[in-house]
Amino acid sequence: MRRPTLFLDRDGVINVDHGYVHTPDKTDFVPGIFELVAQANRRGWLVVVVTNQAGIARGYYDERQFHDYMDWVRAQFQRQGARLDAIYFCPHHPQHGQGRYLAECDCRKPAPGMLLKAMAEHAIDPAASAMVGDTRTDMEAGLRAGVGRLYWLGGPTDAEIPQALRVADLEDVAQDLWPSSSTE
Ligand SMILES: [Mg+2]
Ligand SMILES: [Zn+2]
Repeated sequence: MRRPTLFLDRDGVINVDHGYVHTPDKTDFVPGIFELVAQANRRGWLVVVVTNQAGIARGYYDERQFHDYMDWVRAQFQRQGARLDAIYFCPHHPQHGQGRYLAECDCRKPAPGMLLKAMAEHAIDPAASAMVGDTRTDMEAGLRAGVGRLYWLGGPTDAEIPQALRVADLEDVAQDLWPSSSTE
């Protein structure tokens, strides 16, 4: 059975984007994220993080630090009764990458590579799935991967991407996805 999947950008959707966040002390969680993910878990949706990590490319932190940080993030979700099922990251940058991270890759959003990889590795129903992001590149990646619903958190009022629904906060996402749950 192919499952609907909640694809989440990380910086600006899970944690407040203070710029290259990779430590607990710099972490503020975006209001509503634990509730949104817990609802997705309860409804049998997969929850998959897809995140550009140019900080790795630029040498601000390494992959080990990224994984350690994500272990901590996952533990915070667990403490709130929520679960992130999988995490995909792009460590590349086409201009500012150092060494092997200097690359024109197919995973850095707006390319759809991370989402397509998740779809290859898990039984996912793209059309029944949703992508939540705070940038145009998130919306484009979701669109190119065939994700059915696109939520642009704090997006511009003029719909730059007609398929994307602008939302003010994560509660709006939950209410649009699962209207009956608003009184839970
Ligand atoms: Mg972001
Ligand atoms: Zn990449």
